[in-house]
Amino acid sequence: MKYNNVDFDTYFKQYPDQNGYFGKYGGSYIPENLQQAMNEITEAYFTICKSRKFIDELRRIRREFQGRPTPISHLERLSNKLGNVQLYAKREDLNHTGAHKLNHCMGEVLLAKYMGKKKVIAETGAGQHGVAMATAAAYFGLKCDIYMGSVDIKKQAPNVARMKILGANVVEVTHGLATLKEAVDAAFEAYAREYKDAIYCIGSVVGPHPFPMMVRDFQHVVGEEAREQFLHMTGELPDAIVACVGGGSNAAGFFSGFLNDPVEIYGVEPLGRGTALGDHAASLQYGTEGVMHGFNSIMLKDENGDPAPVYSVASGLDYPSSGPEHAFLHELGRVKYDVIGDDDTIDAFFELSRMEGIIPAIESAHAVAYGIKLAKEMSHGSVLINLSGRGDKDMDYIIEKYGIR
Ligand SMILES: *Cc1c(COP(=O)(O)O)cnc(C)c1O
Repeated sequence: MKYNNVDFDTYFKQYPDQNGYFGKYGGSYIPENLQQAMNEITEAYFTICKSRKFIDELRRIRREFQGRPTPISHLERLSNKLGNVQLYAKREDLNHTGAHKLNHCMGEVLLAKYMGKKKVIAETGAGQHGVAMATAAAYFGLKCDIYMGSVDIKKQAPNVARMKILGANVVEVTHGLATLKEAVDAAFEAYAREYKDAIYCIGSVVGPHPFPMMVRDFQHVVGEEAREQFLHMTGELPDAIVACVGGGSNAAGFFSGFLNDPVEIYGVEPLGRGTALGDHAASLQYGTEGVMHGFNSIMLKDENGDPAPVYSVASGLDYPSSGPEHAFLHELGRVKYDVIGDDDTIDAFFELSRMEGIIPAIESAHAVAYGIKLAKEMSHGSVLINLSGRGDKDMDYIIEKYGIR
């Protein structure tokens, strides 16, 4: 299938190119010593991860440890309530640890093991990436340093406890605002010191090449399974698919199964409280081209051109940019990116819980809200939503802030 001169039959061979570019987005904008470490990871990725042995081992782990394949559920009561459109959910909430993040973490840490590394390094904001990394490190028996701002450590006590129970070393970052940005800087600095024995693992399809490609490829299993399962269940492809976009890893993997199909694809960004800068994190919707965290993409900037402060009720979505592949697919028009605010998200959170017995992660509830919106607009057909994670982590906060709706 061709779309705006891009041939999607050969898309994965063409994108990213050798230097990690999706069109003009992506690349690697980092200091020379780190560039050497990245080159080593890229080379290892193309040799080790494409080997039969690695692929077979990762498949076995996904089956026996992660609980894959995750099912697709027909959201029958919700669909009937809304009208004629049939809604379905790909259940990444049933993946071990309760979200899609473990898909790429298990791949990254298995690669680290094959490369002979002794330690994995990562940063975390809300703690979800840290927990997934700590889980993978425990499984493979590698050391694990998780850099986290002291402000976030106070806010995210349950995830800090999980990481410690799993044997990870949580390194407190106290300088500056002591949140995610400082944690990223500290993790990069540690990696520059320790790259001979350690590997740095990014939490989404962001950062310098090869991470946007590698994380997408490890998440591809979601889209691949979903396409096959949906065909098997209904005999057809869905008319539309939907995923939420923070950095964009759950969306990138899910979409990658359907890019070459006649399927409408929607990426949903968080509109938070509204359209003013600082009230949302809808970077593709309102951002401009720029470089941050080692890659070129579309980002939200402040008056100095630095990453702008962002907000969303979903802490997993409040990132001032999105992966370079999303910027590219947005520019091409192959994927449509739209927004959903906090209020519609909270409504969808309760709606899915009450109508289907599934409590979604507040991030995933953005995609559910958009699926509901599509179901009201379309007269017939089917919509498949990627339910990126479960909502246990969000329950206390939602009840405290919004009450029971
Ligand atoms: C972290 C997270 C996200 C956002 O990350 P992406 O890289 O955009 O997928 C979405 N859903 C859940 C459940 C998460 O934990």
